[in-house]
Amino acid sequence: MSRPASAERWHATACILCSRNCGIEVQLAEGHLTRIRGDAGHPLSEGYLCQKAARLDHYQNHADRLSSPLRRSPDGSYEAISWEVAVCEIADRLLTIRHAHGGRALAYYGGGGQGNHLGGVYGRGLVEAMRTRYHYSALAQEKTGDFWVNGRLFGRQTCHVAEAVEQAEVVVLMGTNPWQAHGIRNARDTLRAISQDPARTLIVVDPRRTESAAMANVHLGRRGTSGPG
Ligand code: SF4
Repeated sequence: MSRPASAERWHATACILCSRNCGIEVQLAEGHLTRIRGDAGHPLSEGYLCQKAARLDHYQNHADRLSSPLRRSPDGSYEAISWEVAVCEIADRLLTIRHAHGGRALAYYGGGGQGNHLGGVYGRGLVEAMRTRYHYSALAQEKTGDFWVNGRLFGRQTCHVAEAVEQAEVVVLMGTNPWQAHGIRNARDTLRAISQDPARTLIVVDPRRTESAAMANVHLGRRGTSGPG
């Protein structure tokens, strides 16, 4: 049996655009993701693919994506520079600040977040080199409520669990539209399954009649928009 040409081989990988990390399979050619599909063999996502992962090649290769670091010139224009020059100049400036004012004058933002923690590997080294105690990430913005609830439920804010939405009998969504945003396992399949099961209830609290609100068993919206989906 002849092996498929390289461009037609499916490579198993994972989507890192959100915390679900769905299993996906991709075909590659000349730096492009030419075909993308859900990985049916993945134990959690089981072949699920959302609209964000379907557009991975756009995010990877769109025309406005920077292909090298840019340095701002005094006249406000930008010039392309090499990574080596960029890293050396940034390191020099950070060291100048640290020597003059100490690590407390510096703060680090980034180093991974929802589903993509690759930056964290480099971030930890940078934080130590900067000798700063200030470290911020997307978790500080999105997850403080989660950690607070963990503290109330389990006695420790660091005991982190993911909601088992797909197994719940009653699901309340407040101001969120997983049909588009995802963030829960196999979001569209899960929402459909809950709303169509007479033994389960999907409640959406949202002034907008989003896709999730429209399929809810109960939608609490603005006066005049509530009612069954
Ligand atoms: S839900 Fe969508 S964005 Fe999130 S990991 Fe899965 S395919 Fe990627």
